[in-house]
Amino acid sequence: MKELAQIASAVQASSTMAIDVRSKQMQADGIDVVGFGAGEPDFNTPDHIKAAADKAIAENVTRYTPASGTAALKEAVCRRMKEDCGLDYKPAQAAVTSGAKHCVYIALRAVVDPGDEVILPAPFWVSYLELIKMVGGKPVVVTAGEDAGFKMTAEQLAAAITPKTKALVLNNPCNPTGMVYSKEELAAIARVCVEKDIYVISDEIYCNLMYDGAKCTSFAALGEEVKERTILINGVSKSYAMTGWRIGYLLADERIVKVMANYLSHSTGAPSSISQAAAVAALSGPQDCVEEMRRAFEERRNYIVERVNAMEGVSCLKPEGAFYIMMNVEKQLGRTICGEAVNSSGDFAAALLKHGLVATVPGGSMGAPGFIRWSYAASMDNIKKGMDRLEKFLKG
Ligand code: PMP
Ligand code: GLU
Repeated sequence: MKELAQIASAVQASSTMAIDVRSKQMQADGIDVVGFGAGEPDFNTPDHIKAAADKAIAENVTRYTPASGTAALKEAVCRRMKEDCGLDYKPAQAAVTSGAKHCVYIALRAVVDPGDEVILPAPFWVSYLELIKMVGGKPVVVTAGEDAGFKMTAEQLAAAITPKTKALVLNNPCNPTGMVYSKEELAAIARVCVEKDIYVISDEIYCNLMYDGAKCTSFAALGEEVKERTILINGVSKSYAMTGWRIGYLLADERIVKVMANYLSHSTGAPSSISQAAAVAALSGPQDCVEEMRRAFEERRNYIVERVNAMEGVSCLKPEGAFYIMMNVEKQLGRTICGEAVNSSGDFAAALLKHGLVATVPGGSMGAPGFIRWSYAASMDNIKKGMDRLEKFLKG
């Protein structure tokens, strides 16, 4: 048989999803594993959102919708953007997709030709790297270490730009680090993007999950010249505990949205009509559920950060957003733990799963060797259990 396509063959499976599947399978097999792999809220979707979906089904809202989403959802998205970020967008500047992951794909599709360079600050969410490759782009990884708070500087960005650079993928608050760029840091990055005329795919899906009273600045709020180059991505998965409903959305210049809508009309056809009705209820209904979940995440963050930093030989920064911590395991490399040689964060995560029955994501696939990502979107009981197991494992 002939070879499969080179681009497709080069794509690596999502490490976050693979670990999630593995730990869920272990649980199904009766093994008492605690999962900190996938970043997925453990809360149920709020009742008023589920009721809107029930109503949509009862009223036969079960047919195709426009490829880039219903008018009602685009209007709800624009109102939420105005309220949360002070941004003015028209419904014609919005597109809805089957999950924010697909927004990233479609955004890259709209601006990247094969061979174009796309700048990706590391540590990064594992899917960005593969998605850039999937559109034929060349990822240019710019590493921001723990000592820099995992944040790329404007100078680093400027140094990485070449005539082939088409876009920057920015994720703020960041998965996997939980770090948040300040308005000043973003403004400095934005100046470089405008001066060098590159697009910015700004994934702000965690913008409602901010702690210590901090507020997230949207990249698009940094001026008109910035906004017209920005493809702003968000979705309902994280803020409203709706990962399975598969609704993401993006906002951009009308010219870019038109290209993306054409693409959507041939790829997914349209997002689920029922999920879109539910997303309207999420974005337009009462927002106290978002605040309630945010508060619970903040409490969990405080607990997990304190526990990790109280242990010998591991440490983590205290993130200001999202629901992840990056645990530094560099001091563990070269050790033998529970009879396993640990020479990489991958070895550490594998041994922790096997002997500690705790599932985490090793940083290698996220441009952060030497680190382990914990998602604390898990119940407090499970976080306590996971920390107790880690403590015991480290002594093994
Ligand atoms: N962006 C980031 C940074 C994420 O962490 C995720 C979660 N997988 C997504 C996008 C995708 O979210 P969705 O469930 O809407 O596809
Ligand atoms: N965003 C989550 C994570 O990083 C969900 C899994 C995925 O799609 O990568 O774990």
